[in-house]
Amino acid sequence: MDTVLFCAHTEADGSLSVASLEALTAAKTLAEGLGAPYAVGLFGADVAAAASVVAGCGATAIHGVSGEAFGVSRYATDAAAMEALAKAASATIIVATDDSRASRAMPGVAARLGGRIDAHVTGLAVKDGKPVATRGYYRQRMQAELTRAARPWCLTVSAGCFAAYDGAPGEASVTAVEVPVTEAMTRTTLKAVIAPSADEQTIRPDAKLLFVAGAGWTKKQADGASHVADAGELILGFLGRSKASLGSSKSLVDMGGDGEAVLPFLTHLHQVGQTGATPRHPKGLATCCHGEEPHVVGWRFVGERRAVNLDPSCGWAQGKADVLYVADAFAVMKKINELLG
Ligand SMILES: Cc1cc2nc3c(=O)[nH]c(=O)nc-3n(C[C@H](O)[C@H](O)[C@H](O)COP(=O)(O)OP(=O)(O)OC[C@H]3O[C@@H](n4cnc5c(N)ncnc54)[C@H](O)[C@@H]3O)c2cc1C
Repeated sequence: MDTVLFCAHTEADGSLSVASLEALTAAKTLAEGLGAPYAVGLFGADVAAAASVVAGCGATAIHGVSGEAFGVSRYATDAAAMEALAKAASATIIVATDDSRASRAMPGVAARLGGRIDAHVTGLAVKDGKPVATRGYYRQRMQAELTRAARPWCLTVSAGCFAAYDGAPGEASVTAVEVPVTEAMTRTTLKAVIAPSADEQTIRPDAKLLFVAGAGWTKKQADGASHVADAGELILGFLGRSKASLGSSKSLVDMGGDGEAVLPFLTHLHQVGQTGATPRHPKGLATCCHGEEPHVVGWRFVGERRAVNLDPSCGWAQGKADVLYVADAFAVMKKINELLG
């Protein structure tokens, strides 16, 4: 019989990320489907707070690797911690989120344990008594269902595919797992974390709404002039008020590279589409974006889609949006910002 392990690192404040809590749901659902026991494995500077968050999740045991050395993202210590947790739990299936930290260490863990790994899993199920993982290929154009006989089987789960575990916190009993830290393991040191502040950070995978800006924001408008500065103000004003996540069309982000006047807060990381990202927000609003197929293909996991465009026969009108508002996005967003206060 399989034994499932949910494995996660703590965040800087000792908590668990939403993505990790989603991976916990994935592990729990899989274990319940298999009728298999499942354990929790946590590592970080101090795992006590995270353990109390998952205390009521029904795991047979909570194993923890604690210590300053495990508080920072570093391949050597992360891989050693995860390997030790997997061994402590005698895990045959190990589930973690596919954030950068777990994704970097997990392949090494699979190799050290003589197991196999599948990354970016979007679904876990049990078929004919066997665990089955779903993941996309060719930029999610194809979905494959995978099962493996090899164990341990390591799986990293993509964010946004499972509901985050939100059971009541409680008192957890953590079984400490000792991992000796050698000098060689801590050769890499963390000097500083350079990250934009929450307000500057416009890519927000956890947001309820994806707001997409298209090249129309920079084009000449009815008065014969372009209004890029106004566009920037309206877009940032809306993002600040709504806390929506920002996406963009390729045409708009490419303009920056071509030396044209462009919205300075946009980078290629914002690009949605065939050669960009495929976000998973429950709702999406496209503005000044034509809705061409190479762009809209990136919307396939976005739930409810709406668009604002001056052109009644734009791509969104061809069955690509649930609602198309044929309107001037400058006027619409100005009004929305006023309403949001
Ligand atoms: C191989 C390949 C890969 C590609 N990959 C991607 C990709 O990953 N992502 C992507 O986005 N594109 C991709 N493209 C490009 C794609 O085909 C389109 O060229 C691009 O998406 C168009 O961007 P846009 O809709 O913002 O600009 P435009 O086509 O210029 O559309 C601007 C829109 O703004 C509207 N508009 C103007 N002013 C206003 C206003 N005031 N109010 C409301 N609406 C207004 C116009 O009516 C128009 O519909 C790819 C193309 C190829 C060939």
